[in-house]
Amino acid sequence: MKLFKDYVLERNLNIDSMTNEDTYNLILDYVKYLSDKKVENNDKKKVYYISAEFLIGKLLSNNLINLGIYDEIKSELSNHNKNISDIEEIELEPSLGNGGLGRLAACFIDSISTLGITGSGIGLNYHCGLFKQVFKINEQTAEPNYWITENSWLIDTDTTYNVKFKDFTLKSKLRKIDVLGYNKDKKNYLNLFDLESVDYNIIKNGINFDKTDINKNLTLFLYPDDSDKQGEMLRIYQQYFMVSNAAQLIIDEAKAKGSKITDLYDYAYVQINDTHPSMVIPELIRILTTEHNISFEESYKIVQKMTGYTNHTILAEALEKWPLSFIEEAVPEIAEIIVKLDKVIKAKYSDDNLQIIDKDNRVHMAHMDIHFSNSVNGVAYLHTEILKNSELKHFYTLYPEKFNNKTNGITFRRWLEYSNEDLSAYLKELIGNEYLEDATKLEKLLDYKNDKTVLNKLSEIKNKNKTKLKEYLLRTQGIEIDENSIIDTQIKRFHEYKRQQMNALYVIKKYLAIKNGEKPARKITVLFGGKAAPAYTIAQDIIHLILCLSELINNDPEVNKYLNVYLVENYNVTLAEKLIPATDISEQISLASKEASGTGNMKFMLNGALTLGTMDGANVEIAELVGRENIYIFGKESDEIIKLYETAGYNSRDYYNQEGIKEVVDFIVSEELIKLGNEERLNRLYNELLNKDWFMTLIDLEDYYNTKEQMLKDYENQDDWLVKVINNIAKAGFFSSDRTIEQYNKDIWNK
Ligand SMILES: *Cc1c(COP(=O)(O)O)cnc(C)c1O
Repeated sequence: MKLFKDYVLERNLNIDSMTNEDTYNLILDYVKYLSDKKVENNDKKKVYYISAEFLIGKLLSNNLINLGIYDEIKSELSNHNKNISDIEEIELEPSLGNGGLGRLAACFIDSISTLGITGSGIGLNYHCGLFKQVFKINEQTAEPNYWITENSWLIDTDTTYNVKFKDFTLKSKLRKIDVLGYNKDKKNYLNLFDLESVDYNIIKNGINFDKTDINKNLTLFLYPDDSDKQGEMLRIYQQYFMVSNAAQLIIDEAKAKGSKITDLYDYAYVQINDTHPSMVIPELIRILTTEHNISFEESYKIVQKMTGYTNHTILAEALEKWPLSFIEEAVPEIAEIIVKLDKVIKAKYSDDNLQIIDKDNRVHMAHMDIHFSNSVNGVAYLHTEILKNSELKHFYTLYPEKFNNKTNGITFRRWLEYSNEDLSAYLKELIGNEYLEDATKLEKLLDYKNDKTVLNKLSEIKNKNKTKLKEYLLRTQGIEIDENSIIDTQIKRFHEYKRQQMNALYVIKKYLAIKNGEKPARKITVLFGGKAAPAYTIAQDIIHLILCLSELINNDPEVNKYLNVYLVENYNVTLAEKLIPATDISEQISLASKEASGTGNMKFMLNGALTLGTMDGANVEIAELVGRENIYIFGKESDEIIKLYETAGYNSRDYYNQEGIKEVVDFIVSEELIKLGNEERLNRLYNELLNKDWFMTLIDLEDYYNTKEQMLKDYENQDDWLVKVINNIAKAGFFSSDRTIEQYNKDIWNK
């Protein structure tokens, strides 16, 4: 292997006099050169992880780490007076995902490669990504997030397919990104299908564009606004484009390996990440029946053996149900196959709950997946139990053997090795580097839980990370946090079920307490980050409230010595990598039963933050692993919440009228805040909390406030706090995505 130094010499280049941008491009070329030497994993059977999203984050350092040359490059750069983090900043973060689901897909392809499994990702190459969040007068606005530059990780290929819609045919173009495993000789690919005819010129003010111009817009944005019919239609076009390309690629690759197609399941397994790629089932059936002369019944049985569905949510509004007429309008041939599949089910079962097409002629994508695949998995223990016992119980009764749990995970290469350099260096010093490939080895840390020197060092590292975060936020966002304060962080998509509004109410209560003379022992900095869907009004209102609170509190000299509040702009993977290592309190406060798993919770735990959370998603497993003395759990549990929904038993006014809650909620529409904000937004949010509050903000508010206060108090006893911290890091090994992928591989892909 040619060293970087020699690679540079050969080209007669002098890094000293190169710009950061040229240096970045040089390292990019060098990594591509090394990566080109690796061949693709090529076992007979290949896994295809199909996902509408891959939130991969920047790739430079991740690839350097996986190639084992991060330190070499870093020191070579420093020999030439260059800092690797300045070079990293040149890369634009790919914008191919919304949040957790897309980030999961990214961790999974890293682990698939690291475990040496033959498997690629398949998705779409959205040119302007989701959107770039920009705050203007305390509100979120959206701009196109251009991220594709001339030199990027995307590799053009000659692979192209025709995708036939009702009125026209689109020609695709495949672009690939190499997925290098940690310390591996072979690689896999992320296959991103694209459209040659994408046209940026149709974008008008912000992220608006002609949604009907499919030939120009298909891979322009991820998940455009689907609040109207044209938006829904565009999503159907995108989804079919993705799965038709996927199906054609899968069949081509299997044929090249000798498949007779009737044995396709020996060559391919397709993991369907949420329902966005569900049409891959009818599309494969279409190709088998029309191009390979296989009967309809045999076709669906072949496809059934080679597909598995992962459910990510129980929120009814998030489960896709497309009007059959929309699918007919876009791709009549697929609609026809869905109708035939529905007939197969209707002939067998009369129960309305089990049907693919309901009485209103809507296609339940998840139902089609469950009937016509061989595996259905949830993403955390509690989530899978809820699927089996309530949301999908009719299906579980029918197919108990299909249901299984695969608790989510994260790749430790990115979320520890890269993002927390000082911690990972120290861990290696203490327990060696086996944990990078066998994460359970982190438990060796428990030997040090009574070692003062070790605990103090962990505290020192946290403080250093706070200082680094301070410098970064000051330089990139003009935010000046206090590195000596307690850092309390809630970063995730804005959604009512995640209850950022409850955290905002905590902030109000704390503000009022400080105004009232109750001074905290130490300053606390409450950090928020996250985007709200452009069509999700209440989520925008919550963002507005937080931005107004931030302006009020940070500028109040009576309060800002004790409390600061910031909402960082355009939360993404890059920001997560900086925020998480600096955090003390990890906010995981969703309404119990609503967060399928969460993965942010795992990243924080691994980086030595303590969880303040409800018994929801993977928090339940974190609590089990670390023990109740090492986590701060509050709030109602899922059984009770599910019962409240069944009986319509929650009335927010009952809570509003309780001691200590009314004045906090009323503050949303106080003179002070309305002066800084938009009265309509604040009023709407206030009324929502009072009259509806579908995600039960007020039910847990008091317990939340008190538990957080206890946490702040406990922080002052650093010795005890740090014992909790070390317990959390030591027990985080279970949440490595290598463990998750091993389970998928054994239980689903090779069952
Ligand atoms: C991990 C991650 C998420 C998921 O966070 P949750 O708290 O699990 O919702 C979302 N966005 C980014 C950028 C992430 O890194």
